[in-house]
Amino acid sequence: MNITRKAAFHTLGCKLNYAETSAISRTLEGGGFTVVDFSQPADVYVINTCSVTANADKECKLIVRNALAVSPEAFVVIVGCYAQLKPEAISAIPGVDLVLGASEKFKLLNYLDDLSKKTSASVFSCEIETANFFVEAWSAGDRTRSFLKVQDGCDYTCTFCTIPLARGNSRSDTVENVVKNASAIALSGIKEVVLTGVNLGDFGKGLNGGKKKDLTFIDLIRELDEVEGIERFRISSIEPNLLTDEVIEFVSASKRFVPHFHIPLQSGSDRILKIMRRRYLTALYTDRIAHIRRVMPHACIGVDVIVGFPGETEADFLETYNYLNTLDISYLHVFTYSQRDNTPASVMPDQVPMNERKKRNKMLRILSVKKLRQFYEHQLGTTRNVLFEHQGPTGVMHGFTDNYVKVTTAYRPGFQNELVEVKLTGISADGLVNIDERAFLSISRRMQEKALG
Ligand code: SF4
Repeated sequence: MNITRKAAFHTLGCKLNYAETSAISRTLEGGGFTVVDFSQPADVYVINTCSVTANADKECKLIVRNALAVSPEAFVVIVGCYAQLKPEAISAIPGVDLVLGASEKFKLLNYLDDLSKKTSASVFSCEIETANFFVEAWSAGDRTRSFLKVQDGCDYTCTFCTIPLARGNSRSDTVENVVKNASAIALSGIKEVVLTGVNLGDFGKGLNGGKKKDLTFIDLIRELDEVEGIERFRISSIEPNLLTDEVIEFVSASKRFVPHFHIPLQSGSDRILKIMRRRYLTALYTDRIAHIRRVMPHACIGVDVIVGFPGETEADFLETYNYLNTLDISYLHVFTYSQRDNTPASVMPDQVPMNERKKRNKMLRILSVKKLRQFYEHQLGTTRNVLFEHQGPTGVMHGFTDNYVKVTTAYRPGFQNELVEVKLTGISADGLVNIDERAFLSISRRMQEKALG
């Protein structure tokens, strides 16, 4: 009797990891597995790890323990960036049976013939240089938006970063294949695609068969803007030195690309940017923001910033704080610097005490709340299209405008995954944006008329 084996997945880290987990889970479904929620009993538990989070190992240990608490005899597999960087450390975690590195993770199905628990974990890792091929992936878990992987790896050498060590050199999918995947996502009914990668703006590297002029990011987004069925494309993150005027102007005039840019800054001090080995200084960053504001005053601009980088003095930090305070941006993602093995910054002098790092982190998070409030207030009174997500926990439903304003309203069946033009009216007690409910009346009437034929 053929028993269907169950597999469950847990993902840590970035959008790229979510896209890859989804792709790997589809290969297991293709191999006859049923994918269940991670809280359910399963024959195989797969944990897709991240190398950026400071407590990657502790987190991984806890998740393995939780899985085995539900199914003590389950086969446990660890993949992802942390598995590539620290295969031995991971294989020593009690209960782990298999560790797959960057070149093997997509071939997981080949390793699942024998699911019996092992006394010690098997490790199939690789030198990262050998993982120099591109594997397509997109997420299908969320019914409203999909993370579409278009680029992987990075050729930059920022002194705090382990990602090139975990994911290898920069490489891309072909434009044709990305368009094919976006069309497939459209057929599944998803309306928003979030373009995802490690260094997205570096798309195209090595794609033109080595011909002199490689394709670039602008070539990709031009093609994607013609994909029927996708209402919105969102650029997940792009390096400031790769965010060209051409890309900004294309997005402002495009049919489907939304006015939302997430641009890593990391520090507002040129001295620190140089030590980080970033490829720009604040002058270029200021210019990028100013150009976006010129052509898309309503655009949402998110900023990544690291606090407590080695050598960051109080004065450097205040320079960052004041720089961000004056910049016309919408929100911050604030990261506390944490030493990562095999990175130049981890052995730099003048490591900042952790309590000081935490204090600086808190100050920038408070600034981020203020910035987001100001951005939301500027949008009040305007009419924008909102893609409504599924019912929230308390009978409300949420959605995001094209320029990434999070709105809240009473739950209404039939509006999930629907794009609705609404007027933004006020800010709710929990800091989200209220809308003019009358928008639904006319649409409901139209939907009823349509239903009555
Ligand atoms: S650009 Fe820098 S921070 Fe970003 S992935 Fe590459 S090396 Fe890391």
